[in-house]
Amino acid sequence: MLIVPERDISKLMTPEAAFDAVEKVFAAMAAGQAYNFPVIREAIGHEDALYGFKGGFDRAGLTLGLKAGGYWPNNLTKHGLINHQSTIFLFDPDTGMVSAMVGGNLLTALRTAAASSVSIKHLARKDAKVIGMVGAGHQAKFQLRAALKHGNYEKVIGWNFHPDMLPGLGEVAAEAGLPFEAVDLPGMRAADVIITIASSFQPILLADHVSPGTHIACMGTDTKGKQELDPALLAKATVFTDEIAQSVSIGEAQHAIAAGLIQQSDITQLGEVINGTHPGRTSASQITVFDGTGVGLQDLAVAAAVVVLAQQNGLAIEVNI
Ligand code: NAD
Repeated sequence: MLIVPERDISKLMTPEAAFDAVEKVFAAMAAGQAYNFPVIREAIGHEDALYGFKGGFDRAGLTLGLKAGGYWPNNLTKHGLINHQSTIFLFDPDTGMVSAMVGGNLLTALRTAAASSVSIKHLARKDAKVIGMVGAGHQAKFQLRAALKHGNYEKVIGWNFHPDMLPGLGEVAAEAGLPFEAVDLPGMRAADVIITIASSFQPILLADHVSPGTHIACMGTDTKGKQELDPALLAKATVFTDEIAQSVSIGEAQHAIAAGLIQQSDITQLGEVINGTHPGRTSASQITVFDGTGVGLQDLAVAAAVVVLAQQNGLAIEVNI
């Protein structure tokens, strides 16, 4: 078995490698070659922790495994550790033997950022100039940094529930040589692409905060009850997702479905656009929404990629089990 510890992931994995891995696995999902297993998520009654497993099998990439981990709310204050903790395990699909154990914390951030970037590549207008951020926490910086690697943006705008966190987005914009402006929510009408990545249980971005032709990557809603978008916005948009089963149950679409504004059959897997079996955006005035719920296959795809990079760079630790 090969071990790639968390401490080495930042030396090995790049946003570009994460993008390629996630784009490929979304394509495999839509082609019926890869599927996610049902998600397990348990409140374990210790340290207020939420623990679970996300797994799947990609027959195209021959990647089998799971991500184990969750959220320990007291980690930072009690132990100086980050609250989200995860480890990815890969198995040989021919024998069932464990093949790799990979630190999953940074990879989770990179694979989530890659998902919104893949959606932007395939669904945003090619002439997009202004990118808007709703949310400015840990994950928001990864989302913005990855998105700025594609396209020709001239400006970043941002809104956050806690405005004191916005300078972090300004720093990422500056890394790319772009100006940053804090705006109110109606100010998001200036954006051609919007990424939402907040921990919210009520709609933030309303239908009249969004201009025709905008692409929205909605990434913060990954649990039942969470919400970032006005259901009326989904009703007037063309909706895409990583996985339809998750979109309607734990993703942003759960609310528009419950309100009877859209139906499951209105939602398309992004992989279909990647594979060319769905046209994606068909007009410059269409609003597109990507409901990025986060699937286990994304974790396995980036873990498999980092194992190869670790072997190439002499950083994979081999152990006999
Ligand atoms: P974080 O704790 O670092 O940041 C939280 C963000 O939410 C901040 O911008 C904060 O200002 C904002 N916020 C807090 N309370 C709010 C409220 N009441 N209304 C509106 N905004 C509020 O968290 P993070 O790591 O940046 O994660 C952000 C979200 O993304 C979380 O909901 C997380 O579960 C989700 N997430 C999704 C995926 C996925 O694959 N889709 C992956 C990772 C994280």
